Amino acid sequence: MLEVGLVMLQGSRRAHEVAIQAACDLTNTPVSIRELRSLGDLISGGLDAVILPGGESTTMRIVGGEGGTGLLGPLYSIMRENSEMPVLATCAGTILLADPQDGGDPIISAEVDRNAWGRQIDSFIGPVAVENVNNPLQCAFIRAPRFTDARNSSVIATLDGEPVGVRENNRIALTFHPELSGTTIFHEMLIEAAMSVQRGTTA
Ligand code: GLN
Repeated sequence: MLEVGLVMLQGSRRAHEVAIQAACDLTNTPVSIRELRSLGDLISGGLDAVILPGGESTTMRIVGGEGGTGLLGPLYSIMRENSEMPVLATCAGTILLADPQDGGDPIISAEVDRNAWGRQIDSFIGPVAVENVNNPLQCAFIRAPRFTDARNSSVIATLDGEPVGVRENNRIALTFHPELSGTTIFHEMLIEAAMSVQRGTTA
């Protein structure tokens, strides 16, 4: 049984719940989804993976910061202390990992520029080429960030040759929203990583 933490501060949460459940069904992986809202949701420990949805990073920082539910700082600490912990971040979630603003190190080394495709009206659906997937996936870029430096990451997804998805050990960070496109490929990667950690087969 995998215990997957889903950050519920704001944004595209329910679609991730559907996607992770679908990915677990596809791979016959029993899963329990733990909704993460506040520090108290972390106390019992035991998370096998974490999903940070997209939405609005400023709002997430306010809602989940020290003046709010207090979730984010301790969650970042757990990720820093568990370098193998599988994490899937999309869009605003990727911004938080690249720039946690809690005084600690970034959780991913890739750097991002917020809203770099333009304003909300400039949002688009584009063909994302994914590592080991034959055909491009049509995915939504919603006031998305852009990677400005992904040199130290492994690039797992591109749009017109530009990195839009990176992987660093078991941390997967995307600038788009696969959960809104009906694909479960990235959630399957997360599950596979979590299963590998459970089996003790990752470095
Ligand atoms: N523009 C948002 C931000 O800066 C991210 C958009 C998204 O997650 N779809 O946080």
